Amino acid sequence: MSAFALTIGGKAVATTRQLDVINPFDESLAGRCAEATTEHVDQAVRCAREALAGWASTPDAERAAKLVDIAALIERNQAELARLITLEQGKPQSGPGANFEVAGAAGWTRATASLKLPEETIQDDNVARIVIRRKPVGVVGSVTPWNWPLLIATWHVMPAVRVGCTVVIKPSPLTPLATLRLIELMNQILPPGVVNVVTGGAEVGARLTDHPGVDKLVFTGSVATGRKVMESASHSLKRLTLELGGNDAGIILPGTDLEPLLEKLFWGCFINAGQTCAALKRLYVHESQYAAVVDRFAAYVAQIPVGNGLEPQTLIGPVSNRMQLEKIMGLVAEARARGARIVVGGVKPDGPGFIFPLTVIADCTDEMRVVKEEQFGPVMPLIRYRTIEEAIRRANSLEVGLGGSVWGDDPEAAARYAGQLECGTAWVNQHGVINPMTPFGGVKCSGIGVEFGVDGLKEYTTVQALNIAR
Ligand code: NAD
Repeated sequence: MSAFALTIGGKAVATTRQLDVINPFDESLAGRCAEATTEHVDQAVRCAREALAGWASTPDAERAAKLVDIAALIERNQAELARLITLEQGKPQSGPGANFEVAGAAGWTRATASLKLPEETIQDDNVARIVIRRKPVGVVGSVTPWNWPLLIATWHVMPAVRVGCTVVIKPSPLTPLATLRLIELMNQILPPGVVNVVTGGAEVGARLTDHPGVDKLVFTGSVATGRKVMESASHSLKRLTLELGGNDAGIILPGTDLEPLLEKLFWGCFINAGQTCAALKRLYVHESQYAAVVDRFAAYVAQIPVGNGLEPQTLIGPVSNRMQLEKIMGLVAEARARGARIVVGGVKPDGPGFIFPLTVIADCTDEMRVVKEEQFGPVMPLIRYRTIEEAIRRANSLEVGLGGSVWGDDPEAAARYAGQLECGTAWVNQHGVINPMTPFGGVKCSGIGVEFGVDGLKEYTTVQALNIAR
């Protein structure tokens, strides 16, 4: 099995140490890649800095055109990238899985190419002409998690490259392969040093986030690591975008006809086996229809095929890694011990691999860990409420606030309640639906700053006011 190399300064860099990447379906070897040291980080940052002036002064239209070419190159390599994602991360080829992720990466790249940040004229009279310009922030350090490795890499790298920044990205050591291949492909189109990739865990990540040669950090991952990244950024006052964990609540309004909403509700909870930052992770159901909703939702969930992501009928793959699987099993055990009812799923099948069945848990309370912690797995707690005001208060009671949703027959009434949720995106009759032109980010401990659209692009720039006296 040939090992994937790092790409630094436009060149493939092999290393003495290698990382084994495990296939979560059966724990076989999914692939092998070069493992970077902190010296590789230094080298990559140096190359990114050397490439910065040339790339920042490249005409805007040329940078946009190169992103369009990159989108097409991602599409030409769709099958290979999708296979790598299934092998290293587990999500299936079918449904909203690995092919959906690659198509999303191409779509987001093309959408980012179309964004513009024109100069703004603030004043133009006989006193002064004042214009606001956006300049690239400089060298960007990107650190990504394991749940949507290619898409999140795309969200970090493309806007940076679009505005004239250069990048060093470090993917999760659990899922580095698709990102290594993406950066290799991008180097077929971009000048050397514009995008560089290193691999490794916390030590290599910390070297990048601490590095004095990095001007901005974009980090997606857990709240705990986000705090460390923010501390690192403080040393040289780096700009910062943090996309952190969430524990999104959904509220089903009393009397809602669930049938037409079931499919959306299912994917809102279980997309990527629940391992999605803005998946629905706690569902509040009015007491008047609690029993009926539990039964109907559990019946829907029970017929969804879970298994090997390479098989075309599979719609949900395994949990991505052992650590996550053990965490989920612990949360289910604690809920059961505190009196919750496992309506479907709940028991890991024997044998190797990290498959965990889709699980619906009823009679949950806010004190259970499966409700108050981000479970990040194929497990859905259903919680009773009495009044809508109480449900909103409980939805808002946590330190995180990424997304939230309200479900009901009257979308306008549902939207009024959704507006009271403390979160970056409030959905009505859907959950987790995102779009490259709509800013996405968290409030409270779910993050700082936004990604996507013009607002997301601005995060890779600094403002310069040019003030010319008349
Ligand atoms: P994690 O925080 O454990 O790791 C994320 C990345 O940080 C990895 O690449 C890791 O190697 C690196 N890292 C670890 N320690 C570091 C350190 N001290 N300095 C620098 N880098 C370090 O997160 P994870 O387990 O990979 O991902 C799951 C989490 O990500 C969940 O909480 C999820 O909600 C969150 N997430 C958020 C979003 C969002 O957009 N808000 C999107 C996806 C995932």
